Amino acid sequence: MTDLRSMTLQELTDWCREQGQPAFRGKQLFQWFARGLSSVEEMTDLPKAFREIIAREGALSPPKAQRKQVDGQDGTIKYLWRLADGNCIETVLMRYRHGNSVCISTQVGCAMGCAFCASTLGGRVRNLTAAEMLDQVIFTQKDAGVTISNIVLMGIGEPLDNYDNVLRFLTLVNSPEGLNIGMRHISLSTCGLIPGIRRLAQEGLQLTLSVSLHAPDDETRTALMPVNRAYPVKELLRACQDYFEATGRRISYEYALIDGVNDTPRHAQLLAERLAGKAAHVNLIPLNDVAESSLRPSRRVPAFQRQLTQRGINATIRRRLGSEIDASCGQLRRKAAKAQEGKKGEDL
Ligand code: SAH
Repeated sequence: MTDLRSMTLQELTDWCREQGQPAFRGKQLFQWFARGLSSVEEMTDLPKAFREIIAREGALSPPKAQRKQVDGQDGTIKYLWRLADGNCIETVLMRYRHGNSVCISTQVGCAMGCAFCASTLGGRVRNLTAAEMLDQVIFTQKDAGVTISNIVLMGIGEPLDNYDNVLRFLTLVNSPEGLNIGMRHISLSTCGLIPGIRRLAQEGLQLTLSVSLHAPDDETRTALMPVNRAYPVKELLRACQDYFEATGRRISYEYALIDGVNDTPRHAQLLAERLAGKAAHVNLIPLNDVAESSLRPSRRVPAFQRQLTQRGINATIRRRLGSEIDASCGQLRRKAAKAQEGKKGEDL
């Protein structure tokens, strides 16, 4: 099997040549793939024999919407997609005045172990391929009947722990012959894998880097995010500053406010000190309750924001979309997995 749908236009063109086809078939295929096909028969301008080769390669294995939840308040849609191998991932479609945005997963599960996050509870199962990331955009667009203009890599998984496939996905989605979504309309969120941030800085992409900071000091951050042991706060902030200098793109820091853990005036002050003079934006997120965790949402969100802005730090509070439907990533997959376990239990 060849993963044709993860190929760039150039690679597909080369593959078509190897199959004895004219080079222009590469572009035809690439454009068809970007539309979200459920059968090779839909590619009506390709010779039948060639369609059969593509079918034999197993190139088309569209994800199936296992569950779809619509938030009646704000129109947010959350998909639980079942992949060809039976694994499930989540995608969220959010509607803003400036356009439709999709939040995609980059791995099945996650290895990072953050204390507040539902995606990591079962560990990492596997990386997603570039095509599986692209499918989330294409099939969400198709199913919801909307045009997607923005992408955030903030779903299940750590994008920089799946670096090569994520970079390939970015190339595909950015391609003028494909979805043609501009890098400035894409955000990549990382828990702070410094080698990945340094590598990304060299790619010369104009995407927005979001860094999940969640604490300004090593003690608090290590308690929440085990990754901080390997990549502590000061080194992370230095890598972010270098990223800014290499790309000219302001860093966006995510900070989920947790009651009594990282939301005190002391934390706000230290955060402001550490970000002073840096091209930064702080995105304050009211913690989403995760059933398995004892961490609770902060009651000091507006106060924390005030403390930052008073010190000259640019900070906004993230609007909560889809709160009716467990839209914080990882929760739906978790529920589905638990329901499965429950069913198995009944069977016995
Ligand atoms: N692995 C990447 C991207 C996925 S998580 C990262 O860590 O950035 C996307 C964002 O949601 C991260 O900022 C993450 O810390 C945050 N997040 C995870 N669980 C959350 C919860 N229960 N409440 C609020 N934010 C959460």
